[in-house]
Amino acid sequence: PPLRFDVLTLFPGLFEGFLSESILKRAIRRGLIGVNLWDIRRWALDKHRSVDDTPFGGGPGMLMMAPPVVSAVEAVQASFGDRPGRLIAMTPAGRRLDQAFVEELAREPRIVLLCGRYEGFDQRIFDILRPEPLSIGDYVLSGGEVPAMAVIDAVMRLVPGVLGDDQSAIDESFGPDGGLEYPQYTRPRSYRGLDVPEVLLSGDHAAIARWRRQHRRTAGPSR
Ligand code: SAM
Repeated sequence: PPLRFDVLTLFPGLFEGFLSESILKRAIRRGLIGVNLWDIRRWALDKHRSVDDTPFGGGPGMLMMAPPVVSAVEAVQASFGDRPGRLIAMTPAGRRLDQAFVEELAREPRIVLLCGRYEGFDQRIFDILRPEPLSIGDYVLSGGEVPAMAVIDAVMRLVPGVLGDDQSAIDESFGPDGGLEYPQYTRPRSYRGLDVPEVLLSGDHAAIARWRRQHRRTAGPSR
């Protein structure tokens, strides 16, 4: 496939529904996107298959240990043979994901996503692997899997051929025309006393384009 994701996680099962429905399912079936899941626990060293331990210096929770995570990432990247791919670690402390970065990632052939759990990663994972730290927003989730799905979902939509109509990624919010989306309507024409704006039913494409430009949302409630 033109774009391949390799996801390293302690919970590969979380991705099952995500990969087997809708647009992503079709993109994978059509060979446009590849997603490989790697269970970090495979690289655990002891007989208990441990991947986490308590933090030195005290404090709550557990940390992902360096040896299994570093070995896992190195083994996965070595399996590519050629280039190591773009290595990204999900962390709330990372650079905040936005559409500009999504567009940059969509031009990569291979993206490796490292998902954290517990209270995050032993620092040496960053020191040794030098991943790009990436956050999906200023809030804390319990693992990097949902953030990794957000990255895959946003990026795969920009891969040529994935969306039914190649315009759909261009016409929308944060697209090259810079505007946020305009209000849209489908049937029924009238619902609970709210009617679809007359101009949208007019068939006058210039008038519709003008109306849409004028009604582009430049500031939503929480922006
Ligand atoms: N102790 C960490 C802190 O205070 O920043 C939070 C760890 S969080 C409970 C566990 C894992 O979830 C993180 O290692 C990361 O992989 C993932 N995660 C949580 N929130 C995230 C976010 N907003 N963006 C990206 N990854 C996130």
